[in-house]
Amino acid sequence: MMTAPSRSVLGKPIEEWVSQYPLLEELMALRESAWFNPAVAPAQEALQDVGLGMADVEDASRRLQRFAPLLVRYFPELAKTGGIIESETVEASAFLDALGQRHGFTPSGRLLLKKDSHLPISGSIKARGGIYEVLKRAETLALAAGLISEKDDYGKLDSDAARAFFSNYSVMVGSTGNLGLSIGIISAKIGFKTTVHMSADARAWKKQKLRQHGVEVVEHTGDYSAAVAQGRKDAEADPNCHFVDDEHSKDLFLGYAVAALRLKPQLAARQAVVDEEHPLFVYLPCGVGGGPGGVAFGLKLVFGDHVHCIFVEPTQSPCMLLGVYTGKHDEVSVQDFGIPNRTIADGLAVGRASSFIGRAVQRLVDGYVTVSDEELLQLLALLKRSEGIELEPSAIAGARGVSHVVNNTQYLAGMRIDVGKLARATHLIWLTGGSMVPAEEMASYFKHAS
Ligand SMILES: *Cc1c(COP(=O)(O)O)cnc(C)c1O
Repeated sequence: MMTAPSRSVLGKPIEEWVSQYPLLEELMALRESAWFNPAVAPAQEALQDVGLGMADVEDASRRLQRFAPLLVRYFPELAKTGGIIESETVEASAFLDALGQRHGFTPSGRLLLKKDSHLPISGSIKARGGIYEVLKRAETLALAAGLISEKDDYGKLDSDAARAFFSNYSVMVGSTGNLGLSIGIISAKIGFKTTVHMSADARAWKKQKLRQHGVEVVEHTGDYSAAVAQGRKDAEADPNCHFVDDEHSKDLFLGYAVAALRLKPQLAARQAVVDEEHPLFVYLPCGVGGGPGGVAFGLKLVFGDHVHCIFVEPTQSPCMLLGVYTGKHDEVSVQDFGIPNRTIADGLAVGRASSFIGRAVQRLVDGYVTVSDEELLQLLALLKRSEGIELEPSAIAGARGVSHVVNNTQYLAGMRIDVGKLARATHLIWLTGGSMVPAEEMASYFKHAS
């Protein structure tokens, strides 16, 4: 279904928008595109926009550490990491060659994959931010009620008394699927009454899994923004209800940012040096922006100017590109410009960017790339053939970014990255979801790929 373009947006005719922002024409035609932001600033400066710093990320990391003993009790699969929810970083030279062939570039440097697709508990990047925010809420309540002190073993919250206490409180969220899944699973375990508002894009199996965990699932016929708005409204009516606000939450953001602290030793263990002579390019699928924004923020804190972040969105839902490119952030939606926001990449099906994220990270993200649904399916097949990894469509989006970096001589020159440095670079594609997709649904993703 096509959404008819409104004749004007924010009081300005569409034609004027297009003449002022020529790339809009490509976006409106749903063509795959790329835009590198000329306003990107040195890390020191760009980080000022965020209003948070390393101390906040370290605080979040310590909080996750405090909860580790409880998480091990609730999720035995976490025993091998001592209660820490983390994914592997793996080498993928065969996929780099395959991408070079498909997108027309000469492979150089090395390619690593960050497998958040296989994060424990909920099988997506949302296991970082979503679970962190629920744990923070639980800690705040439990400390205030004297159930625990910060020095305690939080494993003691695995008790009927603690669960009875938490059942007086509720947690609510609006989601296209994966955030709801992460929040629902942890929140129900802790003992909170939990409600998830799911947008029309959400897959049936995600709703079913949540209901099995005792979560109330409210199904919406509208998109992500509508599901979030309804959840926020319901939550406002109840002072004991915590609404996880994917469009504004600093806690979600910090939960994602912790990934960077943990990536550092993983790269070191693979002898992937990151410094002036060895740039790191990180490619992140982007929906509302919290996941990739939080990770990019953490990476900039850890690696400074040596890391370069690229966000990738569906051609159907380029909300972050639209918001940063026009400087209008959440004041405009892709639908305003006749872009339908209908994509198989359900985790990225967002028509309006977060007001907080776009403004916070606009000067620290180098570039934005869009990818079509057909290309996502081809990339899923390519990854499966070359590396044997199966994902959901949203999760592979980052892979579309590499050629746009490697072939963009103007951008590279601006960053003072010559051929020699490029040959020493590490490209890291952040894989974001898929390990919990039911086999039948997974097979459907591979039916159409040639
Ligand atoms: C949510 C999600 C993303 C993007 O995160 P945002 O915070 O919405 O930008 C990427 N991939 C998958 C699989 C997701 O579920």
